[in-house]
Amino acid sequence: MNIFEKANLYIPGGVNSPVRAFKSVGLEPIFIEKADSAYIYDINGKEYIDYICSWGPMILGHNNKSIREAVIKACENGLSYGAATKLEVDIAEFICENVEAVDKIRMVNSGTEAVMSAIRLARGYTGKDKIIKFDGCYHGHSDSMLIKAGSGLMTDGMPDSSGVAKNCAKDTISLPYNDIKSLEKAFDTYKGEIACVILEPVAANMGVVLPKEDYLQSLRKLCDENNTLLIFDEVITGFRLSFGGASEYFGIKPDLVTYGKIIGAGMPVGAYGGKKEIMDMIAPNGPVYQAGTLSGNPIAMTAGLTQLKILKENKEIYENINNMSKYMFENIKEILKRKNLDYTVNYIGSLGNIFFTNETIYNYEQAKKSDVNKYSIYFKNMLEKGVYIAPSQFEAMFISNAHSKEIVDKTLDIIENSL
Ligand SMILES: *Cc1c(COP(=O)(O)O)cnc(C)c1O
Repeated sequence: MNIFEKANLYIPGGVNSPVRAFKSVGLEPIFIEKADSAYIYDINGKEYIDYICSWGPMILGHNNKSIREAVIKACENGLSYGAATKLEVDIAEFICENVEAVDKIRMVNSGTEAVMSAIRLARGYTGKDKIIKFDGCYHGHSDSMLIKAGSGLMTDGMPDSSGVAKNCAKDTISLPYNDIKSLEKAFDTYKGEIACVILEPVAANMGVVLPKEDYLQSLRKLCDENNTLLIFDEVITGFRLSFGGASEYFGIKPDLVTYGKIIGAGMPVGAYGGKKEIMDMIAPNGPVYQAGTLSGNPIAMTAGLTQLKILKENKEIYENINNMSKYMFENIKEILKRKNLDYTVNYIGSLGNIFFTNETIYNYEQAKKSDVNKYSIYFKNMLEKGVYIAPSQFEAMFISNAHSKEIVDKTLDIIENSL
């Protein structure tokens, strides 16, 4: 029995998160043993250049020495206390002092939990029930967010999850991304009922889809006019597009921000933060309940804070990864030209991807026109030749600070031979 067969005996689908199963590309998953800098190694010892980077957290590359050593040291003091620590204050202070959109912040254990809690807070603060999200944006797997979500649901062709109560789904309105007209209409139709608008300010769970010029500004304006909170889900973009995430990058101040991925440096961490008067609605200060046995875990906080400090104190990292990303994606465009393939390449900062279609892509409907069968062949070729990218057309490629020009050049050769 191979490891995947055995995994299937004991774990549903053999995996603990669906996209890992490689189902959409018709393969069996690789099982990872270890990772270092830009490389990941499977249990057969095969080396891959890694462009998943644990779906974003490993912005410095895998197995960063400073983070590893800080974590090992922290472990010597015990793994969890379920009580207040100075570390939690340190990381909260660090984020609040360095991110304009965040006055106060609450730590949780995943991006899902961060979004779920931010939505509850928005409802508690505004006293309204309905929420607006956008088709193809992924916000984790809490019930009210599993309506036309991106990422694994898109990959598996599931518009909505089964098991979500109708009563819960009816308060979630999902609209096309990048379409202000439909948002204006929804605000008219549900006047006075919308608690919040939540979005990925750069959508990175339907492939990478950039906001149109002025889209985020218009969102901000419409939310203000309707006394509706604007939530930026920065689980991917936070501390990636810039230290202050997309809100700093685009100069838009949301009311609440959700974090995950980079904030934990590979440990299971999420967080939500924002304006003081809203955040003070959370228990024990206010009536919106939210709690967590392992929230603010000392090992996780150590990993996260160490990574954030490195990012803050070495500003050239953002320049490096963005330049490397630009170099890679511009060269991919050249490769496509040479091969007479008119596929669409979208990228911003250190995020990007190739859509296997000639459509210009600003939303979910357009993204879905991609040829997923061709993507599967490409994925298989890449994997065989030692490059690990997302086993789905509808995910991003992540560039880390460990992706040197030499590694990217090698990748470009493999891309040329895999397309
Ligand atoms: C990954 C992701 C989430 C969910 O985070 P988990 O830690 O997987 O629960 C939420 N929002 C966005 C934008 C994400 O990319």
